[in-house]
Amino acid sequence: MLKGIAASEGIGIGKVRIISQQKITYDTKPVIGVHKEIDRLHDAIDTFIDKTNQLADEMEKSVNPKEAKIIRGHVTMLSDPFMVSQMDELIKNDNKCAEAAAETVLDMFKNMFQQAGDELTRQRATDVEDIKTRLLRILLGIEEADLKHLPPGTVLVTNDLTPSMTAEMDHENVVGIVTESGGMTSHSAILSRALEIPAVLSVLNATATLKEGSNIIVDGINGEVIDAPTMDQQEAYEQRREDYFEEKKRLQAYVGKRTETADGMSKEVFCNIGNPKDGIAARDRDGEGIGLFRTEFLFMDRNSMPGEDEQYEAYKKVCDTMEGKTVIIRTLDVGGDKEIPYMNLIKEDNPFLGYRAIRYCLQNEDAYMLQLRALVRANHDTGGNLWIMVPMVASISEIMQVRKLVAKAAEDLSMPIPKVGTMIETPAAFIMADVLARHCDFFSIGTNDLTQYIMAADRGNASVAYLYKTYDPAVLRALRSIISAGKKAGIPVGMCGEAAADPMLIPLLISFGLDEFSVGPTSVLHTRAEINRWTKAQADEVAKGVLQLETAEEVKMFLKEAIK
Ligand code: PEP
Ligand code: MG
Repeated sequence: MLKGIAASEGIGIGKVRIISQQKITYDTKPVIGVHKEIDRLHDAIDTFIDKTNQLADEMEKSVNPKEAKIIRGHVTMLSDPFMVSQMDELIKNDNKCAEAAAETVLDMFKNMFQQAGDELTRQRATDVEDIKTRLLRILLGIEEADLKHLPPGTVLVTNDLTPSMTAEMDHENVVGIVTESGGMTSHSAILSRALEIPAVLSVLNATATLKEGSNIIVDGINGEVIDAPTMDQQEAYEQRREDYFEEKKRLQAYVGKRTETADGMSKEVFCNIGNPKDGIAARDRDGEGIGLFRTEFLFMDRNSMPGEDEQYEAYKKVCDTMEGKTVIIRTLDVGGDKEIPYMNLIKEDNPFLGYRAIRYCLQNEDAYMLQLRALVRANHDTGGNLWIMVPMVASISEIMQVRKLVAKAAEDLSMPIPKVGTMIETPAAFIMADVLARHCDFFSIGTNDLTQYIMAADRGNASVAYLYKTYDPAVLRALRSIISAGKKAGIPVGMCGEAAADPMLIPLLISFGLDEFSVGPTSVLHTRAEINRWTKAQADEVAKGVLQLETAEEVKMFLKEAIK
């Protein structure tokens, strides 16, 4: 079995078709007729533009107008007079042939995009590489692999699925995609999701390991590829594919519906995201808002902090995507298990109890103010539904300080003050929840950390995993008391830890009075459906039983029975 990134959900069972993209080579020859060579280049560009527009038109009809924009963007890039004039100059002044001129200029743009600070711009380097390969093919008369005519049940296996390949392929007949590169936010991932083709990306040496024409299973749910499955495996996966389709059909009934209990109590299902692009998944999966944007991801995989404007763009993008729905953005949560090398955080003996999250931010006020200013601006410019959330609060004075800084940022910018709330992740915050609630516009319970701090069991340490249980009565009592404190103070209470998506806990959370469940985009419909199963009275009955139990194991067994 090969492992990779589960980039597009579903199970695909079919036969391997390998599309290996060799690096294009050519002989550089001195140019004899400069004008002729420039004409040759321009003819190739015109052909590229015609072909690409055709592709985009087809895609608009068959996939999704928004996704076709990615391909249309290739036309815009290669129609840029500056880019083309640079190629012309290289032919005129350096006597380069059309191929070398195009490659030099496009590589230059690619490198520039690759060095950009933000992920979105870096992503454009993939587009430039795609444009380069296709333009060189046209210039050299190399046939592109025929992706338009594929036999039914094809699983495409390739080094990298470029946007143009995705646009071109006969997607009716493609049941799975396996690539050697690309992540969740690459264009190939976005497009395979739009086409609803199961995809596993970043599978090491896939094109060399897998054999043309052999049977293969693509498990886009778990990120696994099963090469030459046995009969038993084949049957098991056919059943799983069947179950997946059934469940999908069942959940379709909840698309566009309000979230409510069986007796009509309104709830909300929000989404947890890690970058602005995930906002699209949240919107497309019918999230009613964003309950947690983990902004630390904007600070990772780079050499310095993102500036105020870059952060503003990212926050604004999510709010724009969510079209006026609530967007809760958590301020920087570094430290603990979240390392950011350029911040030079000193290695600590107890990182989870150390210099992390709001503790770091309040001691690095200048950097924190950049984030707060970016948030205040994004809130102002997108209609005022951005809420600021503070992680790892352990003392009332921390939230008071944050409120002061947010107010100062708003005053400096002459803009309104956004709502400010806190994550409840520490025992101190839970014990003081009634007081904390007076200083907060909302609560969101971070059960991932709250569980580890209540149980004094590191969330990543397998040796103490037997203690790290949200089902533990100690954690459940905390949840009940936090929600009750928030309710008494009249503020909304949400949950953005993994427990919010656990169907076994849903009746308890309904009974305790949780308002908002923030889950991964793929869990939205399932969570909505589970909430809809319970009346308040039934949920209370379950809670009453659970609260009499003494151990996590008993609770788990009880809930397993209760949700049947
Ligand atoms: C949590 O602790 O529950 C949470 C949502 O935050 P993170 O997992 O990012 O620490
Ligand atoms: Mg946390």
